[in-house]
Amino acid sequence: MKCLRALLTVLILSAAPLAAEQLFDLKEVVPGVYAAIARPQYKVNCNAAIVLLDDGVLIVDTHSKPSAARALIEQIKTVTDKPVKFVVNSHFHWDHYQGNQAYPGSWPAGIEIISSEATRESIERRGVPRVKHEILTMPTEIEKLKADLAKATDPKQKATLQENLRQAEEYFSELKTMQVTLPSLTFDRSLIIHRKSRTVAVLWLGKAHTDGDVFVYLPREKVIASGDALHGWTPYMGDSYPYDWIHTLEEAERLDFEYVIGGHGDVMDGKGTFELWRQYFRDLLDETADAYAQGATLDQARKRVAAALQAKYSGKFPETFPKDVIPNIEKAYRVVSGATE
Ligand SMILES: [Zn+2]
Repeated sequence: MKCLRALLTVLILSAAPLAAEQLFDLKEVVPGVYAAIARPQYKVNCNAAIVLLDDGVLIVDTHSKPSAARALIEQIKTVTDKPVKFVVNSHFHWDHYQGNQAYPGSWPAGIEIISSEATRESIERRGVPRVKHEILTMPTEIEKLKADLAKATDPKQKATLQENLRQAEEYFSELKTMQVTLPSLTFDRSLIIHRKSRTVAVLWLGKAHTDGDVFVYLPREKVIASGDALHGWTPYMGDSYPYDWIHTLEEAERLDFEYVIGGHGDVMDGKGTFELWRQYFRDLLDETADAYAQGATLDQARKRVAAALQAKYSGKFPETFPKDVIPNIEKAYRVVSGATE
């Protein structure tokens, strides 16, 4: 029995590093504030911000699945033994909240999951149906990966597809058992956590990437976590309010900060990316409105606006920009024309 217990201990210890698969790179932005930069995965994980408070830890965003959040929890334990007390969902998108369950799972007492009222409502109204929808569509996605793998001849491509298939199957099985965990504490405009060593302001500054985006702002440390209202990739606009978004970014820029932890991509310095995104949205909307006003069909607008924006913005956004810009033009066309097709 003693021997069995010893063996079990060894097994658990040796399993621990495997369970804590490194999905994130932790970067200390200022003392006690970390950016957890998500490594590439088949199903994308968002970044997290980790803020050490006097008596606990605050985390911004929980990634696409509970196991990813649990992997981050293991990494958090390497920098602090304080318990996580607050989790903020920056908005309702799947890659930012679907890991929520892991936090009350790890600290059953005393976790508050914070979001704007709009985000909690959107998780209930749109997040939950999207999870159910994905459970229905994942088998087709997996079959497609299997078919692609069967056809692949290049060893490198084969290895990538094999790994994607593994991750897709794991994600699917996790999705089926996932308990959607809603925010437990909501607010309309701002919620401020006051501690001796830090103040953390969770701010809704207007509609942007969604109707409920919040910024998490540390005034003393001059750090802001911006979710997908601002990040290091090309903006995704599917559920966005483009005109409001420009205004909301202006509101955020009024705050005094030096470091930005976005929902994706690397940590950013200063306000340059805010200016870039505002200008990009203006050009996207203006170019698309001009094209529409001159009778362009959606297909003509795609070509014409993409050419104009690529000329101005390639090199300023990641290299996927030529592909990413197309759904943005489609969104702008819908906004301008009112048409959904
Ligand atoms: Zn995201």
